[in-house]
Amino acid sequence: MERQYPCVKIHTARLGQNAREVVSRCHRLGVSVCGVIKGCGGLPEVARLFREVGADEIGTSRLEQVAACREAGIDGPYLLLRVPGLTELPGVVALCETSLQSERATLDALEQECARQGKEHSVIIMADLGDLREGFWDKEEMVACCVHVERDLPHVQLKGVGVNLGCYGSIKPTPEKMEDLLTIARDVESRIGRKLAVVSGGATSSYVLVHDGNMPEGINHLRIGEGILLAKDLQVDWGITDMNYLRMDTFTLHGEVLEIRRKPSYPQGEFAIDAFGHKPVYVDKGPQIRALIGFGRADVGDVESLICCEAGMTVIGGSSDHCIVDATACRPLQVGDVVEFHLCYSHMLYATGRSDVRFQFVAD
Ligand SMILES: *Cc1c(COP(=O)(O)O)cnc(C)c1O
Repeated sequence: MERQYPCVKIHTARLGQNAREVVSRCHRLGVSVCGVIKGCGGLPEVARLFREVGADEIGTSRLEQVAACREAGIDGPYLLLRVPGLTELPGVVALCETSLQSERATLDALEQECARQGKEHSVIIMADLGDLREGFWDKEEMVACCVHVERDLPHVQLKGVGVNLGCYGSIKPTPEKMEDLLTIARDVESRIGRKLAVVSGGATSSYVLVHDGNMPEGINHLRIGEGILLAKDLQVDWGITDMNYLRMDTFTLHGEVLEIRRKPSYPQGEFAIDAFGHKPVYVDKGPQIRALIGFGRADVGDVESLICCEAGMTVIGGSSDHCIVDATACRPLQVGDVVEFHLCYSHMLYATGRSDVRFQFVAD
């Protein structure tokens, strides 16, 4: 028996519009686009759509998602985004054309695995320019590692260098950071005596430089997920106002009203802790019409940040399997009504990662 709700609708025309707009703007500046599918659970339909509108390759952090896409007949090429663990290398070589890398020991092991499988594999070596996640901190060490790959690892092709910004350290991609990466690239090129094919300037946050037209020449690759899938981070969190060529209603969440009742807004009795071990602060707003919606934190993570599409409705809170909304100011609701929410990246990530949330591809 298949559950009908919660249901995530994926609006393919809106998603296609986002992908086309981003890809065409990047291509105009000579920037190729890796369309990143990890934010939507690696859905093969999304990978197919990305390729159809001109994304140059498909990227994800997880090998299982690459395998599922290949099984669905989407040929790639595929870029593995999370620097792999040693145990993942057989899958990396078997499934991906290219991977991001940041450890010499892993690259040496990758050479061994390539030799074992009789295959070649390309790598983009990552620099850490201040965001403090993956990448070489010492740039001399990084250049030496690139030279090592070029000279000593016959099955591993040095495709280029890259950086990631704005993920852990919330560091802003600026033309200066891009120039720092280009300096490293030129250093590597002069040491190996040839040009690098790829200088990868980052993720969605770096797309701002393409949008503003100040991406330094030489940065020729971006890896973009959120900016196509939801396009909310830049427009809402960064406050960029002239990006309305991108739709933010590409993924919508639909849930069923389970209970609707007038109740106090302030819990009654002695306070302990909630289901997640927290001591929330409750505000007494007097009696409310409260509705229970049939999904919860297990489906979407944080419920408070969901965006209600019903005029007048706000999310109060929730638990693993319930979302509680204040329906006092919205249209009269009844049991069985379906209400719609817009999603943030984390909601999309969690919901698409569950096998018991239904997905529906719709044409609009
Ligand atoms: C997730 C990820 C991306 C894509 O990030 P978005 O913000 O979704 O564009 C790019 N590069 C790396 C290394 C990543 O892990």
